[in-house]
Amino acid sequence: MHWKELASSVRWRVKPFINGCYRPSTAAEQFENINPATETVLCHVSVGNSGDVDEAVRVARKRFNDGCWSEAPPIRRAEILLRLASLIIQHREEIALLDSLEMGKPIQAALHDSGHLAPMLLRSWAGFADKLLGVSAPLSGSSLSFNTYEPRGVVGAITPWNFPALNAIYKLGPALAAGNTVVLKPSELSASSALKVAELAIEAGLPEGVLNVVPGLGGTVGSALAMHPDVDMLSFTGSTLTGRKIMEMSARSNGKPMLMECGGKSPHVVFNDVADLDDVAEEIVQGIVYNQGQVCSAHTRLIVHEELKRTMLEKVVMRASQCRPGDPLDETTTFGPLASPAQRDRLKVYVEQGVREGAKAVLKGDIQESGGCYVLPTIFDQVAPTMSIVREEIFGPVLCTQHFRTEQEAIALANGTEYGLVATIWTRDMGRSKRLAHSIRAGAISVRTSGRQSADSRHILSFEPQKASGFGAELGLRGLESYSNLKAISFSGT
Ligand code: NAD
Repeated sequence: MHWKELASSVRWRVKPFINGCYRPSTAAEQFENINPATETVLCHVSVGNSGDVDEAVRVARKRFNDGCWSEAPPIRRAEILLRLASLIIQHREEIALLDSLEMGKPIQAALHDSGHLAPMLLRSWAGFADKLLGVSAPLSGSSLSFNTYEPRGVVGAITPWNFPALNAIYKLGPALAAGNTVVLKPSELSASSALKVAELAIEAGLPEGVLNVVPGLGGTVGSALAMHPDVDMLSFTGSTLTGRKIMEMSARSNGKPMLMECGGKSPHVVFNDVADLDDVAEEIVQGIVYNQGQVCSAHTRLIVHEELKRTMLEKVVMRASQCRPGDPLDETTTFGPLASPAQRDRLKVYVEQGVREGAKAVLKGDIQESGGCYVLPTIFDQVAPTMSIVREEIFGPVLCTQHFRTEQEAIALANGTEYGLVATIWTRDMGRSKRLAHSIRAGAISVRTSGRQSADSRHILSFEPQKASGFGAELGLRGLESYSNLKAISFSGT
């Protein structure tokens, strides 16, 4: 595949997609969309404004009320989502290329997202579309009472840049399967693949106006959506800081219900009975280099039994120091740039702060200051629980190491941040793993005995983030329930 050639002929999508077609934004101002691998300008995107959002919500409301989607048989909705999944596979190269150019994702990883994960997730939600079954109360001679799920209405969705196409699918999959209409605001850094998916949705048979996408800035388009009085639900993925602002906006407008998928600072907790230290070390390094560490569930804390600490750190540092950054459009590249100059600056500040606070950088990754947002992995040892590098989400390839002697110490360290997204426990002791799985406050826990095997059922099981990582479930059947109103209906009389 000649990715560079394809890149030179990309069609950039920079306008709102409303009611099945592109229309000019009502905002005059634009911002530059930068390729983080080269720091050159890809295109100019409208900053967007409340006028664009008003129009998208008006169309989405009209479509919701006319019932063309909300009252379509669930199996019909499933058919269209399945067709969309197939179209995404057909267009996976273009979607992957857009994501790679806009946020620096290595092209092979982007292809895995667009050609495998996105269609798999869509198919999973399509399969649940006709399975939102309510319970009924015991029947008596004079009454009949049951629950039913109804779509919430117009769903506003706001997504981040780290998995651009996938983040869009995470929102529109369950929202559409449950019968809602959607106004999606993708990240300003990477809106193109979501716009492409909206085009494909029309080709798949989704009625015009059921899915609308408004690109633009968070402070203009995002806040207009969160404040909108005619949006029935707001589904957000992004940082905890922005999530909190959005919750305030919901409270100040119409109190719309929310689904919040926010930040993380996830731990690997490694006991001294693990089978193969090399495999475990490899997994730990993959946890901070995959997507350049820009993953909400990145395991950026290594909490390791003190008997293993030296050996484990040596193995981790040896592997992480072999990390070679490359051009995201080269198919052999596995480590690209960070998504933006702002991300690079943020990471630099944290690394300097870690050193100032007294942590020991056993591997200090180079930071390329210009001509690409490349930053190599940094590994800290001697990290005190109070340090900002271990408490706050950095969102880059930085690992903080802490040590424990007892199970209780391990649990206290694992629970030592405000986040509660996911955690991995490495041990062969079944009793201990159950105790830790119960005591660690996180939405999803993996227990592993050795490397090279991991559960492949993540798309089936729902989970809810805990603490500052958010609330509400997106995956599986519970995902559809999140985007539905639960109603009780009773008939009485003879
Ligand atoms: P961000 O919070 O800066 O932005 C997320 C989205 O919110 C963007 O579309 C942005 O434009 C919008 N936004 C920003 N300010 C806004 C405002 N005032 N009003 C309304 N909208 C606003 O996050 P980011 O830097 O794009 O993404 C990284 C974050 O996303 C990390 O914290 C990461 O952990 C999180 N994330 C979480 C999950 C999850 O499932 N829990 C998944 C992916 C990413």
